Amino acid sequence: MKRFLSLSLLIVALVSACTGKGNQEESNLPTIHTTLFLTYDFAKAIAGDKMHVELFVPAGVDTHTYEPSANDMLKAQKSALFLWTSSTMEPWMPKLIESLNIEKQSVNLADALHLHELNGGEGHDHHDHDHEHHHHHDNDPHFWMNPNFLLPLFDAVTQSIIAQDPDNRTYYETNAQIYREELQAIITDAQEIVATSPKHPLLFGGGFSHQAFLTAYNLPYFSVYASDSIENEPTIAHLATIRQAIQEQGLIYIFVDPMLTTKIATTLAEDYNLLILPWHTGHTLNKEDLDAEVSYLDLLKENNDYLLLALHNQPVLPSN
Ligand SMILES: [Zn+2]
Repeated sequence: MKRFLSLSLLIVALVSACTGKGNQEESNLPTIHTTLFLTYDFAKAIAGDKMHVELFVPAGVDTHTYEPSANDMLKAQKSALFLWTSSTMEPWMPKLIESLNIEKQSVNLADALHLHELNGGEGHDHHDHDHEHHHHHDNDPHFWMNPNFLLPLFDAVTQSIIAQDPDNRTYYETNAQIYREELQAIITDAQEIVATSPKHPLLFGGGFSHQAFLTAYNLPYFSVYASDSIENEPTIAHLATIRQAIQEQGLIYIFVDPMLTTKIATTLAEDYNLLILPWHTGHTLNKEDLDAEVSYLDLLKENNDYLLLALHNQPVLPSN
């Protein structure tokens, strides 16, 4: 029996090696599903070779408006752990959880971070206290764009995985620590960039989910779109304001979420000779980058590099 077991494990290992990193369909490991790329990347780093992690929403697909297929429902049913963000972020999740009865293995990460307002609940935990005391949450589902929530989000993913498989706690904690330190270092870099750079306004031309970041760092900006629902086109008056700002401020860059590029961004870039820079949000990734195992950390580092350029509003940075 023992020999048979190790032989089948060997076969699994060989199959995984042959099919490559992008395709782990054959895995016998318990599966973690996530709705967002960044939580997928967190979970993958923490789970290591103990669990199989899958991005539930297909690469490149908009998480907000996603509608799970019958096949997706089958996948979700086999989920050992399902990490989702909030009913504001994934309005299709509550129904999926209810119809499959997977409440027990699902973790609502906004709730884990006490952001209950994102699930239609009370704005804060201590609602008996002092109603005058207003928290200015505006139900922005992209809370992770605020660097103050990034590490708590990562920790919530770590704790969810440990709760699912406490026997491997030490293994998960060791993995988590490595990733967490890098995440912390990138956040510190961003803080230093903001603290030491001039504050030219940043211009956004694609789907806009960067508000929480900009507010946290108190950065000036102009955005063509009000949100990442790019079906809601800007008004002519608003576009005129944007064009005026580009000219008055002499802006040379325009940021675009690479997963939500727009025709208007391209037009503005052409009209004013702007350079288009990516600003990743972590919702999703295209298939090619996902298969190449591009990490969320890589994306954040790239964001920092371009943030530095745009705050200076210079084609190249002055060398020190
Ligand atoms: Zn979004």
